[in-house]
Amino acid sequence: MTFDASARTVIERCEILGSYSEEPDRLTRRFASKAMQQVNEKVKTWMYAAGMTVEQDNIGNLIGRFEASHVGAKTLLLGSHLDTVRDAGKYDGPLGVMIALACVERLHARQVRLPFAIEVLAFADEEGLRYNNAYLGSKFMTGTLDPNVLHLTDIESITMAEAIRSFGGNPDPESLHIARWRSDALLGYCEVHIEQGPVLEARNLPVGVVTAISGQNRLNVSFSGEAGHAGTVPMSLRHDALCAAAEFVLSVETLAHSIPGVVATIGQVSVQPGASNVIPGIVTLSLDVRHQENKVRELVKDRLEEMAREICDKREVLLEWQLLQEHKTIPCALALTKLLEQAIEELNYPLLSLPSGAGHDGVTFSELTSIAMLFVRCRGGISHNPAESITVEDVDVALQVLEQFMLLLSTKNDLNE
Ligand SMILES: [Zn+2]
Repeated sequence: MTFDASARTVIERCEILGSYSEEPDRLTRRFASKAMQQVNEKVKTWMYAAGMTVEQDNIGNLIGRFEASHVGAKTLLLGSHLDTVRDAGKYDGPLGVMIALACVERLHARQVRLPFAIEVLAFADEEGLRYNNAYLGSKFMTGTLDPNVLHLTDIESITMAEAIRSFGGNPDPESLHIARWRSDALLGYCEVHIEQGPVLEARNLPVGVVTAISGQNRLNVSFSGEAGHAGTVPMSLRHDALCAAAEFVLSVETLAHSIPGVVATIGQVSVQPGASNVIPGIVTLSLDVRHQENKVRELVKDRLEEMAREICDKREVLLEWQLLQEHKTIPCALALTKLLEQAIEELNYPLLSLPSGAGHDGVTFSELTSIAMLFVRCRGGISHNPAESITVEDVDVALQVLEQFMLLLSTKNDLNE
């Protein structure tokens, strides 16, 4: 089979999976939903046809296993997620599963076995839409799922434990700390994913190698001034919380612009009391700061706090600075990443390395094994949106790179150590 034919199949399958949705007019596929059941059934049949044994684990992840050339060999993990956000595109997640599947299919067609087994993983939940808790699938597989999440409820008050049971799984809290694999039985985890950003497109490149999954901070920043009558309080006597917040918003943008690689976003603003004739008394902002180096991210976060305090002091507004979340940067493993780079160079494509600003299941797998990621260009850098779009040509390149990566990995002599 040519790479081009395989690439077309990958895109066709993403289209088919994209037709299974919980909502009639848009693509939404939450954890343990009927639409997830349908895509799992579909993917199972493709996995069987590609010579794999297939199993659905107790949380609903699919695992297709393609045995090695010899017994006792290690396992390479490939894969991505099959759940989506609300009103999603067709490629964020499914593309990585379909490319991994196509690579195995190509080996199977040529009756080739590698000196390591391949497991194609299709995670039941990465986006965390149903229970507002990301990476459920990979956490379950790596034995790091917190048993307390089983009590979380969705918008219909269905607990996660009930959802797992009705999906045919078993939410046994005792089993949650058991990883599917031992670290020494694995070669690593490699995920192909759409870039979700515009860098590859701007450089006119089909694929890029991910250096790290950037760390991030999420904060809640609140400015408390003094509400008052819009007509009677003179400008010189005001303590307008929104004006303080506005000054801060622009300082965030200026600082982020001045340091390469920093991205900082204020995506939510609430103004109280929120009337057209009242001076804003309290403004609350969300703040999201990311950078691929922990040190830089921490410096930026601290500098932003100083700036917010300076603004508030000047305006006699009270500041509340609350750190909600801190995720450290997860570097991709050097050895696997080098093989991806070598594969790209041997195929004569230009090499570009870039960090991932978005989180991925590799974050979870990094606790168990080496991780690597390959990004595929997506039109306009758009993701989490029905306008997500990729080309057959780029999928063709991604398939070639992943296949070459596996062939290079086969030549390593430390496979059985
Ligand atoms: Zn994704």
